[in-house]
Amino acid sequence: MFGKKREQDLDKAQQLMIEDQLKARGIKNEQLLQVMGQLPRHLFVHPDQHNLAYSDKPLPIGQQQTISQPYIVAHMTELLNLPADGNVTVLEVGTGSGYQAAVLSQLVKQVYTVERILALAENAHDVFKKLALTNIKQTVTDGGYGWSNHAPFDRIIVTAAGPTIPPPLVDQLADDGVLIAPVGGRNNQQLIRLTRQGARIQHENLTAVLFVPLRGEHGWQK
Ligand code: SAM
Repeated sequence: MFGKKREQDLDKAQQLMIEDQLKARGIKNEQLLQVMGQLPRHLFVHPDQHNLAYSDKPLPIGQQQTISQPYIVAHMTELLNLPADGNVTVLEVGTGSGYQAAVLSQLVKQVYTVERILALAENAHDVFKKLALTNIKQTVTDGGYGWSNHAPFDRIIVTAAGPTIPPPLVDQLADDGVLIAPVGGRNNQQLIRLTRQGARIQHENLTAVLFVPLRGEHGWQK
């Protein structure tokens, strides 16, 4: 009985998230709204945080890292301009909780995700397994180098903020590919979108955001 009530509360919070946080702020992609309305975001956070999983903010996931605010996940996913048939590959840098990768896995044919902290990658792996998400490949390394074995990628999404876009990621972006990354200082960044057309790369400065730091050779060293 108690379990059923809790499930109903989570379900209600999830539907409110869709209406009040996503649709109300202009997220229009129906496939994406459907995925975020069904994927159990609470499984990607610590059980102590289940009741906050659908709230309008990032949450701590341990190791001084965060799961991004639902709106930011939706906004960045929309900015990737995914084709309706999902026939693309995506590289994510910064697996974190695994939630963004899980959302993408429902919209594209294959997701590759890279995390530098083993414990986070392992937690994410457990949730992917529990949800039977079989089109996500993971590795633990410095994602600033991309994942050359599987390149080029049709889409690249970076979910930690660096001072610049790591050059290996630009090199691993396919023709007609789109890359989204937060870029800037430690305390304020902008989402940048790069679109490749052959040798030409279009650069757009989009939304102001605040992300945890991208570490490593192509990010912040400390
Ligand atoms: N996408 C995640 C999610 O859905 O929960 C949120 C990511 S969290 C805001 C940023 C993640 O990037 C952290 O887990 C952090 O450890 C990771 N990270 C930072 N620098 C990295 C790097 N150079 N390579 C791979 N992962 C990195």
